[in-house]
Amino acid sequence: MRQLAEYEKAGYLSRRFNRCPYCDNNDLEFGAIVANGRTASNDVTCRTCEAKWVDQWTRTGISEEIEATCDDCGWVGGRSEVTWPPKDLADRLDPGGVVPAGDCPDCGAFTYLAVAR
Ligand SMILES: [Zn+2]
Ligand SMILES: [Zn+2]
Repeated sequence: MRQLAEYEKAGYLSRRFNRCPYCDNNDLEFGAIVANGRTASNDVTCRTCEAKWVDQWTRTGISEEIEATCDDCGWVGGRSEVTWPPKDLADRLDPGGVVPAGDCPDCGAFTYLAVAR
């Protein structure tokens, strides 16, 4: 796998980690986040070009509010920022699926609480 240039890494970050830095596709598979002291990481695989890399996380602070994350656009924010109840919840919920935290304020897709994972 070729080495990424710094601008390619920066581009990946600025697009909220949801596009492959190699082929620009958004069909990414994210592994579980593994915490390790002050940092954390997760594996990522691009389903289009099969590139693999590791996302690195840093603890930036504490919050008294539980975070919610949007699977679709990568939005992350406080639980109070999402729309509840979600629009057409009964139609969109998969049987046995994880109950969402609410609708993403950016794209309207389901968001999920970090602790529900
Ligand atoms: Zn790719
Ligand atoms: Zn979203």
